[in-house]
Amino acid sequence: MSKSFPKLVILGAAESGVGAALLGKKESWDVFVSDGGKIKDAYKIELQKAGIEFEEGKHSEELILSADCIIKSPGIPEKAAIIQKIRAAKIELISEIEFGYRYKGESKIIAITGSNGKSTTTKMIYHTLITAGYNASLVGNIGNSFAKQIAEQATDWYVIEVSSFQLDDIIHFKPEIALLLNISPDHLDRYDYKYENYIRAKFKITQNQDSADIFITNKDDTEINKCIAINPINARTIYFTMSEQQKNPNQDGAFIANEQLHINYDGEQTSMSIHDLSVQGKHNQYNSMAAGISARTAGIRSAKIRESFSSFEGMAHRLEFVASVRGVDFINDSKATNVNSVWFALESMKKPVVLILGGQDKGNGYNEIKELVQDKVRAIVCLGIDNKNIHDFFDSIVSNIVDTQNAKDAVLAAYSLAEKNDVVLLAPACASFDLFKNYEDRGNQFKEAVRNL
Ligand code: ADP
Repeated sequence: MSKSFPKLVILGAAESGVGAALLGKKESWDVFVSDGGKIKDAYKIELQKAGIEFEEGKHSEELILSADCIIKSPGIPEKAAIIQKIRAAKIELISEIEFGYRYKGESKIIAITGSNGKSTTTKMIYHTLITAGYNASLVGNIGNSFAKQIAEQATDWYVIEVSSFQLDDIIHFKPEIALLLNISPDHLDRYDYKYENYIRAKFKITQNQDSADIFITNKDDTEINKCIAINPINARTIYFTMSEQQKNPNQDGAFIANEQLHINYDGEQTSMSIHDLSVQGKHNQYNSMAAGISARTAGIRSAKIRESFSSFEGMAHRLEFVASVRGVDFINDSKATNVNSVWFALESMKKPVVLILGGQDKGNGYNEIKELVQDKVRAIVCLGIDNKNIHDFFDSIVSNIVDTQNAKDAVLAAYSLAEKNDVVLLAPACASFDLFKNYEDRGNQFKEAVRNL
């Protein structure tokens, strides 16, 4: 590393790490990237092309601890040895969105977090902005990293999907419009199994906002209400709700009444039938309310919102219909990686279900879906290496539970347990990493197995 520029070290060379490296280089930092594992070839090529030094399979401590600033990729847990050493050395340690924030200039940020619905809502908001002709980009956990977008093609608006891991290490990050969609237990393995730590991370999305900013959140969410009651929000808070008691047509916000979605903002009322939304299910009505309010606060008029909501295309691996095989429907909800998203999946099912559940457990408790499983689930097919948690909870509730360890066996087992007019639903409530590369790989293998039936 040369001596003349401040030193930036980036830990982890995936999408956010490589993006941060490119932005750091552009902004004249002396950049070094260190990944404890293997770096994907595509990312290596990007780093090489930009003339950025990197290492893989190790963390060279001396080099890392000589940095002026360190960026930590979201996948690296706080308890990792190298992070502990950096903390002890009191070197500035930030996330990639914090780094990007420092270079975004006058552009505006809409940031979306929550336990479920982030990707869908982020994409919906982006789609609405584009429909309205805004110069906007879709970044964060979806699409390019925020930093890479800034480095390569700055836009007037950034619509950012933000995970709790990215929020853990922000200092000044301050969106003009922040959304907190909902909170339910997830990733507890990364938060010392303490729910309050995870909740605190999610609320960081609004921590630097002031009264000129907007915070959009869910009035029906118990945890969110509890938190706001204790820690008042500085930003102007606007709610969306489905609850009859909470809806208030005279206040800015969004609600559902008589199967109509209503958005009130700044004296303008936007209304549309929930049946005209291009994505269905109660969860998507929540997402649409959140996205609709954001679009209005960003200055988009009702007609464009309605147009964009009826043309929005749902995303793969989220309650994605795959095929109907001899009267049995197959639905891929591989992205349902926590218990709450499985609740919404089961809630929207109109036929008896054979549920494919399991994978890498994140500290799950299944009480939330107990009733829906009792009402709707005919059989459970476990798809995971260790299915003990599922058996412990469901053995006394569901008479038929079988274990499988690959997508093909899971589909065959589910198909043989299903009766005509049933649904086979892949909604695992768990991460995929025990048997698959990621949730997309799990969903794709599931779809492939269904097509081969
Ligand atoms: P995230 O990016 O937060 O994981 P996604 O939009 O990718 O959210 O959806 C993840 C899972 O959660 C999918 O199974 C989807 O059907 C479900 N889901 C989407 N929106 C919501 C919501 N608002 N509440 C609960 N579950 C949701």
